[in-house]
Amino acid sequence: MKALVYHGPGSIRWEEVPDPHVIDATDAVVRIDTTTICGTDLHILKGDVPAVTEGRILGHEGVGTVVEVGSAVRNLRVGDRAIIACISSCGVCTYCRSGNPSHCLAEEGASGIGWILGHLVDGTQAELVRIPFADNSLYPVPGDVPDESAVLLSDIFPTGFEIGVQYGRVKPGDTVAVVGAGPVGLAVVATASLHGAAQVVAIDLDPHRLERATKLGATHTVLSGTEGWLEEVLALTDGYGVDVAVEAVGVPATFQMCTQLVRPGGSVANVGVHGSPVRLDLQDLWIRNITITTGLVNTTSLGMLLKLVAQHKLPVEQLVSHRFALDDVMQAYATFGDAARTQALKVVLSR
Ligand code: NAD
Ligand code: ZN
Repeated sequence: MKALVYHGPGSIRWEEVPDPHVIDATDAVVRIDTTTICGTDLHILKGDVPAVTEGRILGHEGVGTVVEVGSAVRNLRVGDRAIIACISSCGVCTYCRSGNPSHCLAEEGASGIGWILGHLVDGTQAELVRIPFADNSLYPVPGDVPDESAVLLSDIFPTGFEIGVQYGRVKPGDTVAVVGAGPVGLAVVATASLHGAAQVVAIDLDPHRLERATKLGATHTVLSGTEGWLEEVLALTDGYGVDVAVEAVGVPATFQMCTQLVRPGGSVANVGVHGSPVRLDLQDLWIRNITITTGLVNTTSLGMLLKLVAQHKLPVEQLVSHRFALDDVMQAYATFGDAARTQALKVVLSR
């Protein structure tokens, strides 16, 4: 088969590799029908994720057709169409049983990280992929949900909903500010209404991304980096501050912005992955009763989100900006990697 193989920092190639097969009885092999590229893949390409070693097939998002199942797989049959969750979960370890499969202990090397696809084992940017713990890690897709929508449930939408909306404890009537309107921030914008948010304020440096945010349900947009950005947001809450501020960028400045935006008693939900230490002004935050949360997506909301997509209640497809054939994955990386110029959000690759 053909697959996108990592050959060290700055080097990836679409090349011929051996087909994967079932190794453990709980595995399935899936033919990839649709996949996409994540910001994390760009971090890997830069060499920021040393656990990814040379020869690894990248990708942790995808929708495909089951072509082989191990003898212990009960919920899936050959021919089933399924979403691949970016978190592989055994379902029985202490973390899986307590609702935190992002720390599943059963995976290769017992790493305690459920994100293994395109990281610790071969991933989804390929014609075929082996999925460990298939019963827990694959979600059958109803026939009328298009691949292009389904693939956004592998990672992006569960991340925004679980780590932004749920961890941020968004309640009916809340004003929610989302700093960063990339795919993840836009998923927060789109799912904040599921918890009854009254106002959703998207904040970004890129006016094009703010436009998308409005399409996905933002009631207000604020251009970041302008002199009056903070006052503009505070004015929407009579000067009190927002109930929940979600950090969806991953740099110190935007975490700081969230702590400035939030009202006393409110929450800052950090979703962004930070590459360097972030200053925490605990001396000011404690007396304002601020709650701060962090987290790696569990994908435990995937099934629920899929029901909403099937009922046309979540416009996930609004995140798709570009389409490519799977064979053109190198061109897709170039487009996605140059988002400022290409206005790329999610690039979808189909066989
Ligand atoms: P992205 O880079 O596409 O989007 C980031 C957005 O932030 C961009 O639109 C950019 O214009 C904006 N931005 C940058 N600086 C800003 C500023 N000063 N003010 C306002 N906006 C600013 O990234 P993404 O794919 O949407 O992911 C967002 C973050 O979420 C990343 O750090 C990613 O690694 C992380 N992530 C976390 C998890 C998790 O489980 N916690 C899962 C997936 C991704
Ligand atoms: Zn587990």
